[in-house]
Amino acid sequence: MIVRMETGITPHDPRVRQVVEKATAHGLKPDTRAEQGTQYVVVEIYLLDGTSRSQSIADHVFHSLPGVAEVVRVTPPRVSIAHKNGSDPHQFTLGEKTLIGTGLPCRLIAGPCTVDYHIEEVVGALSNCGIHRIRGGCWKPRSSPYSFPGLGDKGVKLLLAAARRFNCESVCTEVIESSHIDTVRQAKRAVGYEGQIVLWVGARTSNPLLLAALGAQHDFPVMIKNTIDARGVRDLWDRADWILAGDLSFDANGRLTEEPGRLAGNNRIILCLRGTRQTDPYSPWRFIPNHHWTPILQEKSWAPVAIDPSHSAGTARLVLQNVTAALHFNPSLLMVEGGYPDGLSGPCDAEQSLSLEQIAPVQQAITRHNQERYGQAVH
Ligand code: PEP
Ligand code: MN
Repeated sequence: MIVRMETGITPHDPRVRQVVEKATAHGLKPDTRAEQGTQYVVVEIYLLDGTSRSQSIADHVFHSLPGVAEVVRVTPPRVSIAHKNGSDPHQFTLGEKTLIGTGLPCRLIAGPCTVDYHIEEVVGALSNCGIHRIRGGCWKPRSSPYSFPGLGDKGVKLLLAAARRFNCESVCTEVIESSHIDTVRQAKRAVGYEGQIVLWVGARTSNPLLLAALGAQHDFPVMIKNTIDARGVRDLWDRADWILAGDLSFDANGRLTEEPGRLAGNNRIILCLRGTRQTDPYSPWRFIPNHHWTPILQEKSWAPVAIDPSHSAGTARLVLQNVTAALHFNPSLLMVEGGYPDGLSGPCDAEQSLSLEQIAPVQQAITRHNQERYGQAVH
């Protein structure tokens, strides 16, 4: 792995020392080399194997340091989301301003389960309430072929056009097959939406080709939800590892091939807890909440953790108490369904959709939590 510093940084710059110290702390052997150009020096720090293999160190460990321009891989990475017991949490921006990650305030994402023709009104209403991170699915993996599957490509354009109109800083939408990544990219361009799009992989989608394709692109962070039958955090990490690995190539003997200068997979990953299957007919919950995975994920892995309290609640009346319970675990994001103005409702998951009035106490709960924990009254 090679860490290339921004041009103009000299070998004795304290920022170079910081990279060297970080590499040493991670068990690597740093070797600093400087290339003198006509005007500038370019400093590169080669991170050679020491007690750890550089192959297994996550890019963000160095990428997040000041003065680092680029982290270049020589050998294919074998990075784990559970690297070094979660030390060096990965913090990255959603949109221009909002930094998310373990150790930072919790942020709210809200919007309809599924994008429909009311999307502009819904996004407008949410924006009016100060919510600028929007969610909405355009391709919905339904359990029955007779249920509404979403508006597809058309839905993406409607969603992004609404987000653009109301200046939303980020939009989360679900992808269920690899071609959807490009569809979203094209819609973004066609509509001229400049905010951050996050692509999510839902609980019913287990397609390794999709996960690898999400890992091979660097335009969009990826939120990965636990599957309905996930038995624990390991299942979620295993899914995330596909995204981290990215687009690997193998030779005819099945060995990973070396491509000097290759980029690693996508490390802007969010792990989302949405509840697991429940079989008790008397339970008030639609899925068993698995918020309690949060501290384990935060201790042992570095990706930000999101909680979706809507799908485990299953009914709007249980969502607020589920949000309150979720906040005890200090997630980085809370994603709720809702936002329809009075008299309107959506084609999917309407029972768990919060009205605008019901979203207000969710915003207040998050703001209070962030004020108490981080001294910042934000949501
Ligand atoms: C959703 O977020 O609308 C959704 C379908 O979620 P999940 O995949 O968790 O059921
Ligand atoms: Mn839903």
